[in-house]
Parts: sequence; structure tokens; C-alpha cells
Amino acid sequence: MTSETDLIISCRDKVLAGHRISEEEAQKLISVSDDSLQILSDAANEITRKLCGDVVDVESLINAKKGKCQEDCSFCSQSAFYKTEIDTYKLLPPETIVQNALLAKEDGVKSFCLVCAWRGPTEKDFEQISTIIKKINDEVGIEVNCSLGFINQDMAIELKKLGVKRYNHNLESSRSFFSKICTTHSYDDRMQTNLIVKNAGLELCCGGIIGMGETRMQRLELGLDLAGLNPEECPINILVPQKGTPLEIQTKLSISEILRTIAVFRFLMPRTILKIAGGREVYLANDQEKVLLGGANGIITGGYLTIGGNSPSEDFQMISKIGLEA
Ligand code: SF4
Repeated sequence: MTSETDLIISCRDKVLAGHRISEEEAQKLISVSDDSLQILSDAANEITRKLCGDVVDVESLINAKKGKCQEDCSFCSQSAFYKTEIDTYKLLPPETIVQNALLAKEDGVKSFCLVCAWRGPTEKDFEQISTIIKKINDEVGIEVNCSLGFINQDMAIELKKLGVKRYNHNLESSRSFFSKICTTHSYDDRMQTNLIVKNAGLELCCGGIIGMGETRMQRLELGLDLAGLNPEECPINILVPQKGTPLEIQTKLSISEILRTIAVFRFLMPRTILKIAGGREVYLANDQEKVLLGGANGIITGGYLTIGGNSPSEDFQMISKIGLEA
């Protein structure tokens, strides 16, 4: 065996035995040559199958309040700082959101995530959101997750009481890169919200976006911080450059870089639902199956916040074609 194969196998065995790999090992793993990439993906797949099983977590989301966000995240077409071409709207009426939750359930989707583009909800917004969650619980009966930006402890406790299972709040990028992509809030602000979520007893969904100009080691830095939070779910988005945003002309990541990142994140978060999110269809086209056989065990179906995606039936077909379950 080559030394790279030795390294991958020994890290895989370490993880399967219930131990964490060291930062130094993670640095070596993410740096293996392209010749060893398949071995790395296969090892990540083995960890996934043994520790998470064969089920792929399929989630659908709704952009419940779109655009005109007061924050300046440079990747985001919903920021009011940039002239983008998206349509915008205030918080959707409860009936529309409930209808979408119902459609998601009828499509066989397991969870439904309510996402709002704002810094965080006002008390009034939060009351409206609470009413919507109650309606979904009463009229649909699907697992509800939320992504409402910065929330305080009382809000987090209230969401838990309402039966919300998981709260999404991404770190977006590594600490060392964060100031390059956002100036209206800090990395620590995001960390703080994640701790509030965990303290309230909500499951944490926390991930980020790769391909924003960060280095490979900064991607790893993000992975290490995410692993430190031990989230139940970790969505990995791949930047799809949006017209009008500062990252409009960002060079796209290669497929091998995406596969390498997902695989190493699996080593770092062996039992987390590692969800390949925005950018999956755009970047991976016919290679989407490779990520689900290389460390990822979750997808978002039916489109994203500002861009479309595969239909649930297409995704369910893909999952069964590769011998996994939804
Ligand atoms: S990523 Fe979220 S907080 Fe940042 S601009 Fe977009 S909607 Fe606002």
C-alpha cells in the first residue's frame, strides 16, 4: 500500500473505533493526491454506511421571507446591499406555507425547513412564525425545522416547545476567512447563536459554503470548528455565484475538490447527517451519486432559496439506483 492509502485506512479505522482523528491527520487527509481520491471517498463511504446506515435524509425547504436582508453576506443574492435579480417578498401567508409543507409530505419528504432572509426575527415576526409552526403541526404533521437567523434564548426555548426538531444556523466559512465574506456580523455572533440553539435542547444543523475563495486549509478549518459543535446535521453548500453579488465572478470549485471536502468532513463528523445542499445539481450534474457514496448522507430536494434543483421524484430515483434508502 502507498503511504497515502495507509494514512486513509488508519484514519478510517480510528474513526470506526470511535476515536477522533487529529488536526494533523485531517490536514494530511485533505491533501492526498487526486490518485488517492477514490480511496478517500470509499473510506468515507464505509464510515457513513457503518455509523449512519443506508438512509439518505431528504429535506425540503421553503423560503418563507425572501430578499431585502439587512446583512451583507457577499455570497447571498438576498442581501439588500447588492443589486440582484431575485424577486422579494415579505413573510408568506400561513396558508401558503402550510400548503407547501403538505406537498412536501405528499412527495415523501421527511422534514420541512422554514427559512427567512433577515438578520433575525422581531418579536412580531416570531409570533407569526410560531403560529405557522402550530398550523403545520396541526394540519400536516411533518417534522419542522427552522432557519430564522439570530435568535435569543427565549425564542430557542419557545421553538423547542413548539416541537421544532432542528435549528439551522451555518457558520458559512472558517473563522480566518469570515471577515472577507461578511462585515455586518461576526463569526462569533454565529457561534453564539449555535450555542443558544444547543442550550435550548434543539438539534443543531450547522454547516457552510465552500468555493468562496477560501483555501483548502480554510475549508478544513471550517470542518474542524463544525466538528467541535457536534451538529446533528451539517449542510455543505457549494457556492453558485449569483449575479450582482461580490462573488459573482468567483472561480468554481472542481468536482475533485468537492468530493475531497465531503469525504474529510465525514471523517471529522462520523455520525452527523452530512447534507449536500445548494450547488449539488449545478456542480455535480451526473456525479451527484458520487457524493452520496463518498461521505454525504443527506440532500435538499425540490430547489433551494434562490435557485431551482432536482424534483423529489428525480432524487428518490437516484437514491434507490445506488442502493440507498430515503
Ligand atoms: S446569508 Fe442570510 S443573513 Fe446573510 S444576507 Fe443572506 S439572508 Fe441575510
